[in-house]
Amino acid sequence: MSENGGGLQSGVRITDNNLNGHAVDEWLDCSPKPPEQLMAVHLTRKTFSQFLPTNRAEMLQRGWDELDVLFVSGDAYVDHPAFGAPLLARLLEAEGYRVGILTQPDWRSLEAFRVMGRPRLFAAISAGAMDSMVNHYTAAKKIRRNDAYTPGGKAGARPNRAVIAYTAAVKGAFKGLPTVIGGIEASLRRLAHYDYWDDKVRRSVLTDSKADLLLYGMAERTLVEIAGRMADQQPVNELTNIRGTAYLAAQAPETAVRLPDFEETAADTKAYGLAFRLASEQANAANARPLAQRHGKRWVIVQPPAAPLSSADLDRIYSLPFLKQPHPGYTEAIPAYEQIRFSITTHRGCFGGCAFCAIGHHQGKTIQSRSIDSITREADRLTEHPEFRGTVTDVGGPTANMYGLYCGNLQAEQGCRRASCLFPEPCRHLVQSDAQAVALLRSLRDRPGIKHVFVASGIRYDLLKQQPAYLEELLRHHVGGLLKVAPEATTAAITRIMRKPGPEAFTDFLDTFRERSRSLGQRQAVVPYLISGHPGCRLTDMVEAALFLKRHRLQVEQVQDFTPTPGSLATCIYHTGCDPFTSKPIYVPRSIEERRMQKALLLWHRPENRNLIVEALRRCGREDARRELLGDDAGRTDRQGAYAKKRAGRKKP
Ligand code: SF4
Repeated sequence: MSENGGGLQSGVRITDNNLNGHAVDEWLDCSPKPPEQLMAVHLTRKTFSQFLPTNRAEMLQRGWDELDVLFVSGDAYVDHPAFGAPLLARLLEAEGYRVGILTQPDWRSLEAFRVMGRPRLFAAISAGAMDSMVNHYTAAKKIRRNDAYTPGGKAGARPNRAVIAYTAAVKGAFKGLPTVIGGIEASLRRLAHYDYWDDKVRRSVLTDSKADLLLYGMAERTLVEIAGRMADQQPVNELTNIRGTAYLAAQAPETAVRLPDFEETAADTKAYGLAFRLASEQANAANARPLAQRHGKRWVIVQPPAAPLSSADLDRIYSLPFLKQPHPGYTEAIPAYEQIRFSITTHRGCFGGCAFCAIGHHQGKTIQSRSIDSITREADRLTEHPEFRGTVTDVGGPTANMYGLYCGNLQAEQGCRRASCLFPEPCRHLVQSDAQAVALLRSLRDRPGIKHVFVASGIRYDLLKQQPAYLEELLRHHVGGLLKVAPEATTAAITRIMRKPGPEAFTDFLDTFRERSRSLGQRQAVVPYLISGHPGCRLTDMVEAALFLKRHRLQVEQVQDFTPTPGSLATCIYHTGCDPFTSKPIYVPRSIEERRMQKALLLWHRPENRNLIVEALRRCGREDARRELLGDDAGRTDRQGAYAKKRAGRKKP
């Protein structure tokens, strides 16, 4: 099901700054409070009855004694299209269904799932905008202390493997009710998949949750079809021909591509790699066949992906009556909402195909762009918000400068099996014109009540070469001091594994950015995002990266320690030690110690990392880089390093 509108992407980058996590062993009561307790607090907020119901009292306010569809979500309820469950719920509401949202229910209490009664048609269940294991644990497998999708940013409001836990609770609360699972957790775990936290291949989440149907991808069209067919009395076990779904069956369809069985993929990394490759080849909605993978006596059947939405479809979705606010029952701020409250999503999808990224797997490779009219109307509505001060904080999507881009050859597109339109070389059919993106930025700037429009979503700097007018607009009006870009690595061997542009593309961009900013009299800088511990990365690569950063006067604020999240190519390589497309072995840094050193090298400017860096340089025989990197040589003792660390950690009075 739909998750993560593009405007949220910049906010969901996994960080692991919670290394000292505590065990989360208590349920935090984040459920909406009764209206009478809170109405006085939220004078500027919308009234309860304008939100979708979250409890019995709110259902009765609408005159409903029964729901048609019950949404269950691991996130708090923010009535905003960047949040998956509310987006789909508003869509079903517009189709005439009575829907309610149960957010972050206590999964240990069946009563918590019964607060709105048994729905007439089905329950739609999602872990939330993030996979619950990614949400709960750092790359070092430590428990995180916060959760951006929960009031107060508190961790602990959802269970591990939330899709499985919620589905079990729904089944316990309402015997025989059809259950439909979706969202990023279900979507990326639809087939047998490597699970980093269990360090083993797990079965499809369909078999573990025993749900009736699984929806993958953004799922608007799919969910509307399911609701319509169930409303027409069609039993859920007959819904076996809907795009964007997966289900369990006794037989595999004849047309299906048969993947190696779960048992084989669990026992043999070669079989796992083959299953990954075969499934990747069926990602284009225009030519995909169903997939079939046996799990014991049954088959997991994955129907081809749903077709991408048109601009008109997206415009309709974004014109639904979202209140753009958290439910008024919450008393604390929800960090993910604070980040996107004044941002606008312009499109979905990404054709970059980066190895570590899930966006292409979830939103698809085709860019689905809203019209300029729809986006400017949303900007106009933002100006009516009582707290809006004239700044649109982000106009973008998964990759901001892909807005309006498309494949220029319909025939080639329909037959296409490439995972990326940019790697290894930009495809000749890709239309890279910046005309629509430029027109959009200009019209937003012209709206009354809007003083600033920033682009905070990531951009693909390799595309900017073909987008000079967009770059000019960006540098003149939309950077806001810092521009985030994601080279992710600085050595060609690694960027090739990541399917990213090489280091020369990044240095070209840096030169252009700095020169042009200078000539425009703008004081603005580039903030690069880099990943450590990615398959293929050795300590020597990280030493080169650290030197690269220093030589180019760049400091990273955050380093992403690679987390093998379900479903990505990089995770497949992590598990198998091999590229599934070429069968070439790839080095994988697995030890926590090496990963800490890799990360420390990218944060070379922090005094507390000095000892780790010294050790890393020694281990990989690069002590020659010590003077350039640390400004000293082997003569400086580790005691001095320890002193620097202590000094850096000392609290200011
Ligand atoms: S044909 Fe080229 S531009 Fe079109 S979808 Fe395939 S890779 Fe992308």
